[in-house]
Amino acid sequence: MRQQAIALFRASFGTRPRAAASAPGRVNLIGEHTDYNGGPVLPVAIGARTTVAVGPGAPEVLEAVSTIDGRIVRVRWRDELPSGWAAYVAGVLRELWAHEVLPPDAGARVAIASDVPIGAGLSSSAALTVAAARALSLLAGQRVAPRQIAGIAYRAEHNHVGVRCGVMDQTIAALATAGHALLIECASLVTQAIPFRGRLLVVDTGVRHELAATPYNERVAECRAALLRLKVELPELLWLTAWPAAWVGRLKRALPQPLRNRALHVVGEATRTRFAAQLLRRSQLTRFGRLLYESHESCRRLYECSAPELDLVVTTAKRAGALGARMTGAGWGGSAIVLVRSRPEEGRLTAAICRSFRRAYGRDPDITPVRAGRGARREPV
Ligand code: ADP
Ligand code: MG
Repeated sequence: MRQQAIALFRASFGTRPRAAASAPGRVNLIGEHTDYNGGPVLPVAIGARTTVAVGPGAPEVLEAVSTIDGRIVRVRWRDELPSGWAAYVAGVLRELWAHEVLPPDAGARVAIASDVPIGAGLSSSAALTVAAARALSLLAGQRVAPRQIAGIAYRAEHNHVGVRCGVMDQTIAALATAGHALLIECASLVTQAIPFRGRLLVVDTGVRHELAATPYNERVAECRAALLRLKVELPELLWLTAWPAAWVGRLKRALPQPLRNRALHVVGEATRTRFAAQLLRRSQLTRFGRLLYESHESCRRLYECSAPELDLVVTTAKRAGALGARMTGAGWGGSAIVLVRSRPEEGRLTAAICRSFRRAYGRDPDITPVRAGRGARREPV
């Protein structure tokens, strides 16, 4: 990807880039839709990465190009937010300016190459914003800490592009360490690296979404509405995930549907995720896997964010004896993860999932074995 980003930069702008950085996609092991509810998540970085090569440009102007369409977008990034993908890069520039990493009249040229599939639930958007934030701060000659990079990337997507995302994707893309999952408590932003030696299959169903076009923002609004009602019961409640797990009966009485089911998922998923992190620390992969199945069921039934293709992958994996499986990355399509014990089992499960997927949909899903990879890094140019 590094070579591709550099080659695209040269072909588009007729000169060499001055700096480059890359950031990974991610899969979330467990903790679905808990992030924007102030709860825990447990992602790992994957091998697929986005590389962003950058160089100086005309004052106040962003020129950006991506291998996805090869078209150069040119905007005055402070005055207008471009439509489409370039908005993510413009958002990063605005945030770097807000943090005084860049001057207000900064100009930049940006070339993007990636092997993170877009809209597959593997967080191509955070791989892009984190890599862009890192590369553009290198261009400015400033050392920006990984946590700040994550914050800049988060606000670019949340405040400028307008996706009501949580902080998970940007945090794991910026902070991941190889061979570890990262437990992120999204309310306090306390993070903890936990060794993850499991083997995963990421099954991309090929069902594509753009978060802006799914019920994602609707779910965020439902959670806010549930929180407001629960505050009547418990005035000091700041986050939905802080609702006491033992008070399920009270929660059910306080909330009408569909808010009740949404809140039940969020509260249950927070408990499951913290327990899952403990099990991982003790290398209890079998019990950990069982929680993945429970999480999927909760996503499907209570949060209604699954898709038939995802359900089929999970059911097939379970029948074929996988340790665990669940949809990952918001849902409504995208990818599922399957936790497997050994390399031979990887092959057997891949074949089983392909067979049943082909029977149902007449095509193969894309299946990639994944180990926990590393976070954002500088790339040589
Ligand atoms: P994901 O689950 O992949 O993060 P999102 O809907 O959050 O899905 O983000 C996908 C959007 O991010 C794309 O529609 C595009 O605007 C932007 N994006 C991601 N990767 C790239 C890339 N390599 N080049 C240009 N834009 C990208
Ligand atoms: Mg995204």
